[in-house]
Amino acid sequence: MKHLNHVVDFCVVGGGLAGMCAAIAAARRGAKVALVHDRPMLGGNASSEIRMWVCGAHGDNNHETGILEELLLENRYRNPLRNYSIWDSILFEKARAEANILPILNCSVNALEMDGQRIKAVTGWQLTTQTWHTVEAGLFADCSGDSILAPLSGAEFRTGREARAEFNEDIEPVEADNKTMGMSLLIQARETDAPQPYIPPAWANVYLSDADLPYREHDVQTSNFWWIELGGEQDTIQDTEEIRDALLKVAFGVWDHIKNRGEHGAANWALEWVGFLPGKRESRRYLGDHILTQNDVRAEGRFADLVAYGGWTMDDHHPGGMAWPGEPTIYHPAPSPFGIPYRCLYSRNIGNLFCAGRNISVTHAAMSASRVMATCAIVGQAVGTAAALAVRHGLTPRETGEQKIADLKQALMEDDCYLPWNSRRVPALSLTARLSAAQGQAEPLRNGIDRPVGAADNGWSGSPGDWVEYAFETYQPLRQVRLILDSDLNRKESPMAANYPLHMEPVGVPQTLIRAFRIEALGEDGTWQVVARMTNNYQRQVRLDCDVTARAVRFIPEATWGAEKAHLFAFDVA
Ligand SMILES: Cc1cc2nc3c(=O)[nH]c(=O)nc-3n(C[C@H](O)[C@H](O)[C@H](O)COP(=O)(O)OP(=O)(O)OC[C@H]3O[C@@H](n4cnc5c(N)ncnc54)[C@H](O)[C@@H]3O)c2cc1C
Repeated sequence: MKHLNHVVDFCVVGGGLAGMCAAIAAARRGAKVALVHDRPMLGGNASSEIRMWVCGAHGDNNHETGILEELLLENRYRNPLRNYSIWDSILFEKARAEANILPILNCSVNALEMDGQRIKAVTGWQLTTQTWHTVEAGLFADCSGDSILAPLSGAEFRTGREARAEFNEDIEPVEADNKTMGMSLLIQARETDAPQPYIPPAWANVYLSDADLPYREHDVQTSNFWWIELGGEQDTIQDTEEIRDALLKVAFGVWDHIKNRGEHGAANWALEWVGFLPGKRESRRYLGDHILTQNDVRAEGRFADLVAYGGWTMDDHHPGGMAWPGEPTIYHPAPSPFGIPYRCLYSRNIGNLFCAGRNISVTHAAMSASRVMATCAIVGQAVGTAAALAVRHGLTPRETGEQKIADLKQALMEDDCYLPWNSRRVPALSLTARLSAAQGQAEPLRNGIDRPVGAADNGWSGSPGDWVEYAFETYQPLRQVRLILDSDLNRKESPMAANYPLHMEPVGVPQTLIRAFRIEALGEDGTWQVVARMTNNYQRQVRLDCDVTARAVRFIPEATWGAEKAHLFAFDVA
């Protein structure tokens, strides 16, 4: 068989949202990256193969930003009817667009070579080309969900639920066990303008009445059927095929129930899609230098090395899934946000191995909150950014945390990742300039906090046509302008649909975003010149390169996507 060898700085295994964000972050910061993913499309549980909604931190203005926000805003702009193939195409092109990323798709990593306590290379089989790919790298990140590199490398990991006493976690069982949350196959339906009969397969389960689906909300207008869940009392890796077969019986049986067993307001609805690849919630978790626990979560996780945050409840599904007649999950309250420390994001015994996604170093209880995809994505961005720093300085993941944590945090905030209770160092040129505005107080634009927090807006509002200005004592060379605009971090984020009603409400670009604006510089001849202009912006973070010498520089909003006022959180010049 054909065998290809690749040499890169950083190899990411698994292209869910965690792996994608890790790869993109590292590539944009200069590392040569291989992204080895075993599916044709990227996005993992968010992709069209599984179709889970991207959820994240609850609460005012806690929405995750950075690369994830870039993906979601691209999707809002180009995919108003929330079509899964368009979403897949956006994820695909974002990874493809990075010159520093070598994507190796349809390639399942199943072997590796060690060099002492470090991974030297990983090898995978590419189904479509019948080719073995070996990727040699200085650093690896396991973003495969199931932590494929742990058993292959000897990295320490855990599965199942910890005993209550081990970490003093009161939501854990008294005795440790191997039970996990189960896996699911989702179903999607589409409304039509005429009655649609449905004939179930003979092998589907039969749910005669609503009493057979207790606590399982199945309104076709609103449910995404996440509770079609099994396998938590089996092995969610080894038994997956068997569990998939059982889930198919449930999925088609649930649709039969909705269509044929009682009135569900679904006469005109037709089955659109059923997943055949089980979406996994839980399996192996790495052991890092810190294990995040329920108590860390409850204490808000204000760690000095906080590099990401969660804010979902501790949403601990019953391992019995459909076999459990009670409530399928318990939402144990968690503060939002809670910090996730860097020490949870690498293996404690394999020297060059990061992890990101649902498999980070957390207990079962903490994982029930940290597992949602927006959290996984920002954890991925933290790992990718750390990897780029580690490559640049020739450090291991642990050394990067010990020696470069301040640089890592600054890099993340510069790339629009929110780190609660931290603020960004603002460029010296912005800090030393005289800041003024046509109206209102512009000073928050250089306070290093790029979103509203509590009662503080941390931004500037003006009408289209108003200006914000930095004036300098002497002529200054300007190389870059960085803006953080308002993408409405309280927007109701349902980036994708569960089901498709006949007259579907389109989503769009948040009205608060500034669509058109210009940057003007005051030149040596005393006149204002336009040095950059955008007329169709739909992103929150905008970086514009320029090459001028100026006595002053202005940001002038021209139009929004609907809001009366133009609102922004940062205007950096460097
Ligand atoms: C049914 C269900 C409902 C959920 N509901 C929500 C929800 O509403 N909102 C939310 O945000 N989260 C939800 N979650 C949780 C969330 O989807 C996961 O925790 C999250 O997707 C984990 O992200 P990840 O990147 O670690 O893994 P994944 O999204 O699973 O991505 C990992 C990828 O790695 C690939 N891979 C695996 N092994 C290999 C290998 N050997 N070689 C190469 N590639 C490999 C896999 O194919 C996969 O695509 C749900 C999960 C499930 C299963």
